[in-house]
Amino acid sequence: MTDAVVIGAGVAGVAAGRALARRGLSVVVVEGRDRIGGRVHSVRDFCGAPIEGGAEYVHTGDAQIWPEIHAAGLAVRPCPLVRNSMFNLGGRTRWLPWILMHPGVWPSFPILRQIRRAGPDESARQFIERHGYRGQARIMAEMTLTAHLPGSVDEVGVRGLVEDRVLSIETGSYHRVADGYDRLPEHIGAGLSRMRGVEWTGISRQRFLACDFRRRTDAIARYAAADRNRRRHDTDQDARRIAV
Ligand SMILES: Cc1cc2nc3c(=O)[nH]c(=O)nc-3n(C[C@H](O)[C@H](O)[C@H](O)COP(=O)(O)OP(=O)(O)OC[C@H]3O[C@@H](n4cnc5c(N)ncnc54)[C@H](O)[C@@H]3O)c2cc1C
Repeated sequence: MTDAVVIGAGVAGVAAGRALARRGLSVVVVEGRDRIGGRVHSVRDFCGAPIEGGAEYVHTGDAQIWPEIHAAGLAVRPCPLVRNSMFNLGGRTRWLPWILMHPGVWPSFPILRQIRRAGPDESARQFIERHGYRGQARIMAEMTLTAHLPGSVDEVGVRGLVEDRVLSIETGSYHRVADGYDRLPEHIGAGLSRMRGVEWTGISRQRFLACDFRRRTDAIARYAAADRNRRRHDTDQDARRIAV
């Protein structure tokens, strides 16, 4: 009998699953991808060292993730951000120190301090327009304001960046998990019962609880397939309606 189902095996999902399991509940974590970690995704077939396709750094010395990293026994490496980083500015990839020497980007340097002093909330685009960033400074400003939270310059708000401590995160210390950041969700999720490659599409609670565990797995897979077919059918119908 399963007491709890967690949807998604990102760091939040495996941590929630582990917390429930530690309270004695029987937990299943359902993951739509064929791997755990979500936006933590270390790639190992590129070169001799793990390359991070998602989260890369442990930002600042007081990051909440540190106790988990220590508990997992993971080695970390300090990462001097500027010296060892490459950046793509206006379609050309260069070492960051070279980019920062270009006078065109200099006007963007105070941007993180400026957002801290910003008044009422506004979008990153409004902020950039109001401060008159142009050319390479504008590209740099857009990258800086959209690198932290998911979203475009129209979706990311300046107040959200401040509340998310963007200034201390971007200017504090950076560490990298030496063996790949995905070792962390793997460690947290070790021992949890995981179903991978199953997309949770919102099957009703009654239907879900009515099945035993094996049938539940089948039911979710069937439901997902039916849902995909229904969506395909709706799209076809729409296309026909538009054609008429
Ligand atoms: C390019 C990039 C760089 C980043 N750099 C950093 C960094 O340097 N430092 C840092 O601290 N953070 C960084 N982040 C942010 C960090 O990766 C995320 O904040 C964190 O991984 C989010 O974890 P989560 O568990 O909340 O969500 P996610 O990792 O998104 O996990 C959600 C999981 O749920 C699954 N899922 C969703 N819907 C369903 C469904 N219907 N059915 C089944 N499964 C489902 C998804 O497949 C996914 O595995 C970065 C993110 C990106 C994309």
